[in-house]
Amino acid sequence: MNALTASSPAVYRVVMPTIFERVVSREIPAEIVYEDDEFIAIKDINPAAPVHVLVIPKVASERLDTITDEAHMGRLFMTATKVARSLTPDYRLVVNVGPGGGQTVFHTHVHVLGGWGEDGPDGHV
Ligand code: 5GP
Repeated sequence: MNALTASSPAVYRVVMPTIFERVVSREIPAEIVYEDDEFIAIKDINPAAPVHVLVIPKVASERLDTITDEAHMGRLFMTATKVARSLTPDYRLVVNVGPGGGQTVFHTHVHVLGGWGEDGPDGHV
């Protein structure tokens, strides 16, 4: 099987860096709102809310539940809340996990959504 016929994202990743790895390496431009040694936060290219930022670990894991390092996962959410609070007082954090959970980019990331104002978003979980 080669990259063109690979049927699963896991196989595909062996030869193809993820879109977000290409953002981290500056191969793909992005509006960066935060960066440290471990994470980068960028504006979503197709925003679903007035504030829509993605907090992305620089070292790719395919999906949230493949992360085994608890401290790394803790820092991911600490960073997401820090970035969120720098952008908007109230917000929603979303992680889509797997195709059935709506994940389309198989490089773990946390969506920071907000900016709706005091009434909040139209739909509620
Ligand atoms: P997922 O569906 O995997 O939870 O979220 C992937 C997100 O990445 C989507 O909201 C999509 O708009 C965003 N996205 C996909 N490609 C790019 C890109 O090249 N640049 C940026 N900034 N966002 C992207």
